[in-house]
Amino acid sequence: TESEAVGVSQAAELRALDMAHVLHPHAVVGQPPEPFIVDSAHGAVLRDIHGDEYLDGTCGLWQCAVGHGRPELAQVAADQMRQLEFYASFWGFSNPPAIRLAQRLARIAPPGLDSVFFTNGGSEGNETAIKLARLAWPTQGNPDRNVILSRQGGYHGVAGGATAATGLPAFHEGFGPLPPGFVYLSKPHARRLGENAADVLIDELEQTISEIGPERIAAFIGEPLLGVGGMVPPPPHYWERLQNVLRKHGILLIVDEIVTAFGRLGYWFGCERYGIAPDIVVTAKGLSSGYVPMGAVLIGQRVMGMLEGAPFRHGFTYNGHPVGAAVSLTNLDIIESEGLLQRSRTLGARILEALKPLEDEPTVFEVRGEGLAFGLELELEDVTPVVEAARREGVLVRGTGPNIVMSPPLVLTDAQADHLVTAVTKAVRSL
Ligand code: PLP
Repeated sequence: TESEAVGVSQAAELRALDMAHVLHPHAVVGQPPEPFIVDSAHGAVLRDIHGDEYLDGTCGLWQCAVGHGRPELAQVAADQMRQLEFYASFWGFSNPPAIRLAQRLARIAPPGLDSVFFTNGGSEGNETAIKLARLAWPTQGNPDRNVILSRQGGYHGVAGGATAATGLPAFHEGFGPLPPGFVYLSKPHARRLGENAADVLIDELEQTISEIGPERIAAFIGEPLLGVGGMVPPPPHYWERLQNVLRKHGILLIVDEIVTAFGRLGYWFGCERYGIAPDIVVTAKGLSSGYVPMGAVLIGQRVMGMLEGAPFRHGFTYNGHPVGAAVSLTNLDIIESEGLLQRSRTLGARILEALKPLEDEPTVFEVRGEGLAFGLELELEDVTPVVEAARREGVLVRGTGPNIVMSPPLVLTDAQADHLVTAVTKAVRSL
């Protein structure tokens, strides 16, 4: 209610303090963005400090599978903190929730991904995966096999290797020199590449491998469906063909499932959806639904075999954090017991069908989606007016380049789904 919102003067003070002291990610330094200060959240609804409510059409940064404000997750975190607030899995130390979570992930992961390395988030996970892939080759007598292939339009985070693997030039600007050994292939965008998209992408891959030499390429890293790149599903048969080429040349496959795992595409893993058999899978976000920072790198038997005997000098203080692990286990329980994988598929198909007519608008290039991940590509350089118009309709969506992206919590109700569609439709038509 209005009376629960913070007072007007306190809101003004918080706004001023944020602008004075908080350096926001991806903002222009010295030009602080107008802060949108969130005070509380429940289900798929956020409330700001003025008491206004919004439908969370992106669930923050795509991390929230089970919805906001779940008392079960608060309870398990508090219980775990009382019992054991921290003991990292360094040097043989371990803790029961981390062990149980590793077992649980191995059970639901694509076959053979039996080993788990825990992180705090996505960038650390991709950094770990890239290091593992590079470390795997010297032990095989191939010290020069260190090139990482990735894709334009792919986003893999902000750590050194993860930044270098990211195929969005804006994320590289000013941070050089980046680590060497990263090569970018074209964006897997079916509509832009046309009917033969998969042929074009696979021919380019073969060509690039033969130019560099397969004996120099450690791994390929890619997202099952491009997230930041605009929620772009892959062209038909792309993944099966890509992995056949990689397999032929012995190149490792790292799949970045930081956005796509844990129900976003309607399955535990996007790999299941597209028939991908990866060597390494990187997860974060939906693993804990964002209630605590938590990520996990799932490593397959082939890589573990290659690494046998290698010293792995890598680890984070909070590796295998018991609170993160306990919350993640309960989060996975909720996804399972509430049938959220199925919900993502059925509700997602309904929303996509309802948004599709927007393709008739002259400003809209494509409406696409998979599970509860949607992208609306516009014929505009700046989509801010659409984001703002949707906000006036009470719905938060995100702009990335010419795209509006949406990824609501998997617990979105039917009525909320209708609100999302109506608001976005109205926002696009208001142009
Ligand atoms: N990879 C993908 C596909 C992502 O979408 C993100 C974040 O949005 C990351 C990696 C980086 O994760 P984090 O921000 O947790 O470091």
